[in-house]
Amino acid sequence: MKKAIYPGSFDPVTNGHYEIIKRASGMFDRLIVLISVNPNKHSSFSVEERADLLRRVCYDIPNVQIDSCSGLIVDYFREHDCDIIVKGLRAMSDFETEFQMAHVNKHLCPRAETVFLCADNENTYLSSSMVKQIAVFGGDISPFVPESIKEDIMKRLDTTKTNGGTQK
Ligand code: ADP
Repeated sequence: MKKAIYPGSFDPVTNGHYEIIKRASGMFDRLIVLISVNPNKHSSFSVEERADLLRRVCYDIPNVQIDSCSGLIVDYFREHDCDIIVKGLRAMSDFETEFQMAHVNKHLCPRAETVFLCADNENTYLSSSMVKQIAVFGGDISPFVPESIKEDIMKRLDTTKTNGGTQK
């Protein structure tokens, strides 16, 4: 049985993440979508909120499980007896950091292989931060996030509603 983890911030999950989840879930017996908690990185959504959004988006993919970890990814990988680390690659900008990360992980845990899945064309320029910037100003995020969570993201981030329609 091949068990993979797909680590990331997922702050919040986007169509780009979802597309990688669907493809990876078809390649491995089990896929753990792992919210990695970095105390030095500001997040807009709490870990619980991010996990809840991910669970709702992945509810119909039976071999996908959502979890979180606040330590090293390789420690989680070892403790949970995983086989593969899955990463998504967008434009070239992702490559350098991801390449470095894959090597560091392999150094720390020699059996930790990273598999890269290239983003679909329409998701190549999509990031959680872009979604958040649009949402904050009341823009339409529907092309970028799964329909089932769109309203929840807007409720949390849309400042044009919370400021009574005025922007700072
Ligand atoms: P970000 O905050 O930049 O959106 P995350 O840390 O949540 O990124 O990303 C987790 C993983 O998902 C990383 O491997 C990242 O390269 C990948 N990923 C993020 N956005 C996309 C996308 N639009 N298409 C494909 N993979 C993506």
